[in-house]
Amino acid sequence: MLQGQEAHAAEMERTFIAIKPDGVQRGQIAEIISRFERKGFKLVAIKLVVPSKDFAQKHYHDLKERPFFNGLCEFLSSGPVLAMVWEGEGVIKYGRKLIGATDPQKSEPGTIRGDLAVVVGRNIIHGSDGPETAKDEINLWFKPQELDSFISISIGTKLART
Ligand code: GDP
Ligand code: MG
Repeated sequence: MLQGQEAHAAEMERTFIAIKPDGVQRGQIAEIISRFERKGFKLVAIKLVVPSKDFAQKHYHDLKERPFFNGLCEFLSSGPVLAMVWEGEGVIKYGRKLIGATDPQKSEPGTIRGDLAVVVGRNIIHGSDGPETAKDEINLWFKPQELDSFISISIGTKLART
């Protein structure tokens, strides 16, 4: 068992996960959430939003030189996106493992993209790729108070278990 500060730091790791418009429209919300829940990660914030194209460009700013950038941002802003924050030890790296490779043709079976998607431009889900991006993306998509209300619930759950 991790104790004290170590346990606290491990528990507090968070990542930003979004089900893109294709995943929402294809009815994959429950399937995707259940994979994160079954693994043991904790959902700490969730909302359905239609991002503007400007907002999508902010989210994908590191890809602005890529030829697919415009189409990618058009697509992300084309319909509802399910924005989420998940918490748990190693959730950033393991979340990417659950998601699978960027190109669904290269994602292993058993991963979300491997099982549920076919082409790179419609790969149904986003997950932060490291601690810095996780922090930036959570702050871009969620206001502090949207996270706070869920923190108190999760603390309540923990107290109930001990
Ligand atoms: P991710 O972190 O696995 O989502 O991959 P990236 O950060 O590299 O790219 C962001 C998103 O851009 C991907 O999830 C894809 O939807 C899209 N994308 C990446 N590479 C390509 C590509 O070569 N062609 C197209 N059309 N889309 C791409
Ligand atoms: Mg990425």
